[in-house]
Amino acid sequence: MRLILLGPPGAGKGTQATRLEDKFGIKQLSTGDMLRAAVASGSEVGRQAKAVMERGDLVSDDLVIGVISDRIDQDDVAGGYILDGFPRTVAQAEALGALLAKKGSRLDVVIEMQVDDAALVDRISGRFSCGKCGEGYHDRHKKPAKDGICDKCGSTEFKRRADDNAETVASRLKVYHEQTAPLIAYYREQGLLRSIDGMADIDMVTGAMVEILEGIAATSGKAAAK
Ligand code: AMP
Repeated sequence: MRLILLGPPGAGKGTQATRLEDKFGIKQLSTGDMLRAAVASGSEVGRQAKAVMERGDLVSDDLVIGVISDRIDQDDVAGGYILDGFPRTVAQAEALGALLAKKGSRLDVVIEMQVDDAALVDRISGRFSCGKCGEGYHDRHKKPAKDGICDKCGSTEFKRRADDNAETVASRLKVYHEQTAPLIAYYREQGLLRSIDGMADIDMVTGAMVEILEGIAATSGKAAAK
């Protein structure tokens, strides 16, 4: 199963991708995570991406297409993947289509998460995650049960993304509307788009996605949920 989670920053793509990863046994591929790892490691890709990410702009299509093209060639994703944060421009979507066609494969579905901009600023500006297991938290909506201790793994180290501040969030949303939202029409025309209410309760959003993916699995004979 190969799918794209499409939606603005803060829509919950990463959270939902982690849940789908557990349920369907397919990997989440987040270009944002890959680029943050490249920045942290000080690699050439990281050096090129750092300042652009801090401003909330998009890194170049060539750079990110190179990163994803290497990743989808690896054996651990032969059975499928969930793309989170890629593609973000029509040029990236076209490049992805060409990469898949070359391998004789194709996308199964693009799930668009519809969310209000006002809610996004609130969601992003309060979020943080466990530095060890990556479990996501929020200052107002989802605090650890015991202050300063991760519910999932017990770690006491937490981290916040450098680009989750009010100024950068505004620019990331603008970039989304200008450069990424055109993908909604692009994939609708290809008959691949399914839209869901990303404002619903987190479990309901997962449920809506699972229903879509189970439907595809049933008609295509692909792996169903565990
Ligand atoms: P994300 O974690 O998906 O919110 O991405 C964080 C930042 O990484 C974005 O604001 C961009 O600067 C960069 N980035 C991630 N994915 C892409 C992409 N597909 N194209 C261009 N830039 C990206």
